[in-house]
Amino acid sequence: MNSFRAFTALRERYAAWHDVLRAPTDELEEVIRPGGLAPTKSRRIQHVLAEVYEATHGTWDLGFLGTMPLAEARAWLTSLVGIGRKTASIILLFNFGRPAMPVDTHVHRVATRLGMLPPRTPLDRAHDLLEEVLRPEEMYAFHVELIRHGRDTCRAPRPICGLCPLTDVCAYFADAIRGRAPMAPIPRNAAGGDVPARYHDELIHGWAPPEQPAGSRSVDR
Ligand code: SF4
Repeated sequence: MNSFRAFTALRERYAAWHDVLRAPTDELEEVIRPGGLAPTKSRRIQHVLAEVYEATHGTWDLGFLGTMPLAEARAWLTSLVGIGRKTASIILLFNFGRPAMPVDTHVHRVATRLGMLPPRTPLDRAHDLLEEVLRPEEMYAFHVELIRHGRDTCRAPRPICGLCPLTDVCAYFADAIRGRAPMAPIPRNAAGGDVPARYHDELIHGWAPPEQPAGSRSVDR
């Protein structure tokens, strides 16, 4: 949420990406301070904007990422300072509908517990493995729902397996039910049949969930 506050402040302060690029770096740093790591992020933002400006000949049009081969689009994005595999996949999946699977801490933890990833799989390898087993049309829903499930049920460090509909397919639960892995008790406010509050109204990577009206989502100018 802090990063979304910083992004909102940035969009309110600057009318166009060109203005962000040309702004004094210490001014930009102050604008995005709510997001944390402002000194590093302000420099990186301007560095990335300078590269995008040059690559697009000043048009800011990144539409080529939606049509070029996926591996090339990913390589182009990860060549930019501060953009790793996860961020590149978020841009490709959320903005261009490309079949790229972002693996954040929730996706990694839940997929590992379900047995879809071997224990302690490195992040880069986790991206590859999940992209291999998921169909392109499954990636967006898989990503969003694993984040939600990781936030409200399959939490770190102890999942609330008693509220989970996936126990019959979950490798972690098979261990937990034998006392070999920890589980959290069902919260008292959910014991009477009420399910805990879902997070469907929370932003995911600064984007409104798909079931919210399009007008409430953050959009690129
Ligand atoms: S059964 Fe437990 S560990 Fe497995 S996915 Fe559900 S909450 Fe997570």
